[in-house]
Amino acid sequence: TPSAVVVVTGTEVLGGWVSDRNGPWLAQRLGAIGVRHLSTVVVGDRPGDLVLALEQARDRGVQLIVTSGGLGPTEDDLTAAVVAEFQGRPLALDEALEGRIWTIIERLSRRWPGVDPDALRAANRKQALVPDGADVLEPVGTAPGLVVPPPDGRPGPTVLVLPGPPRELQPMWEAAVERPSLRAAIAGAEVLDERLTRMFGIPEATLAQTMIRAREQGIAVDDLEITTCAHRGELEVVTRARPSLVPDAEAFERFLDAEHPGTVFSTDGREIEQVVGDALRERGWTVATAESCTGGLVAARLTEHGGSSAFALGGVVAYANEVKEAALGVPAALLAEHGAVSGPVAEAMARGARERLGADVAVATTGIAGPGGGTEEKPVGTVFVSIAGPDGATLTRRYRVPGERRDVRERTVTGALHLLRR
Ligand code: ATP
Ligand code: MG
Repeated sequence: TPSAVVVVTGTEVLGGWVSDRNGPWLAQRLGAIGVRHLSTVVVGDRPGDLVLALEQARDRGVQLIVTSGGLGPTEDDLTAAVVAEFQGRPLALDEALEGRIWTIIERLSRRWPGVDPDALRAANRKQALVPDGADVLEPVGTAPGLVVPPPDGRPGPTVLVLPGPPRELQPMWEAAVERPSLRAAIAGAEVLDERLTRMFGIPEATLAQTMIRAREQGIAVDDLEITTCAHRGELEVVTRARPSLVPDAEAFERFLDAEHPGTVFSTDGREIEQVVGDALRERGWTVATAESCTGGLVAARLTEHGGSSAFALGGVVAYANEVKEAALGVPAALLAEHGAVSGPVAEAMARGARERLGADVAVATTGIAGPGGGTEEKPVGTVFVSIAGPDGATLTRRYRVPGERRDVRERTVTGALHLLRR
């Protein structure tokens, strides 16, 4: 199986000013075309560091190196020059490419009327310098991508050079994988069957036992590549299988469901808010939210995907008690008696949202996200979620959510969405 290393360049990424979106994205795409992704390396905009990263990848014997960033017109963008040197292919001006880039620049420069076009032209001439023998990928922004093969007649990795901005890198990757120059580098790639099972309501540790039982049932779990990952209070199980092992992957997927009934909520890539949204849409129901500790995050998740206007009506962020009273009609006496973080208040919030916003169902959250505000009786992480349904009935749950403020809020949202699913 061919293998690859990703080299992400950019001082802004290395320093933590911009979080890397290209490394993870490329990792997924490499997997999808059957290339083994060995590592992602992040380096700053220093030529020596990039050379070192390229040499290390070559020493590991990979067939493909993918770089991101450093293709811009400025002095600190030097990926093309470094890769040219690394592959022993001198840079030469591609005049036809320069013309095409200039057309793009001219169009863009109309948005920047004050800028001297000659300065732009000089800066962008640099982007038309291409290593000898490279396959040029058309610019999505202003920078072209490059497929740079190893020196003629010598073994070694092909380098795929892509721009840094994700909206440029992604379409250019899609174009690159169609090119014979890239296909040649990754010949022999075998696309793996990949499936994702999303579960809720079981701890990650129980899967170790599940794996043992699956093996006893004759499922070839040791030949499958199984990765589990806890995510926002849910469990994601990714299973990768060579074509001959697809029946085992299918059997394992069914086994998870059979062993842990009621916990599998998605096997088709949908997130919980999509599962909930589809269920609401199917019944023709609308939903409203009343949120205290989650501050609108439940509403945000419910409206994350296109088409949510079919079921999402809106919501109230009722952080202060006065707003719980005024906007949701929660009785002051109830707040005084039980406190804002309580089952009766969660229930009153859900009822209030459902009635006042005219929804079929409503979901309410109230809790102590921390870091302060906890008591012995209600420590940080105590949250109540309530659902008010069409028949006027309510379903209320108390949770004890672990983690810091951000985790508590995120997992409360997850809990609320899963309760809504019931
Ligand atoms: P351009 O032609 O746009 O200058 P470039 O290849 O020179 O392309 P960079 O200068 O490396 O791109 O990056 C431009 C911007 O793209 C960065 O400032 C950053 O906002 C974004 N970017 C770059 N790399 C990444 C990354 N790995 N993850 C997320 N964003 C990135
Ligand atoms: Mg840069």
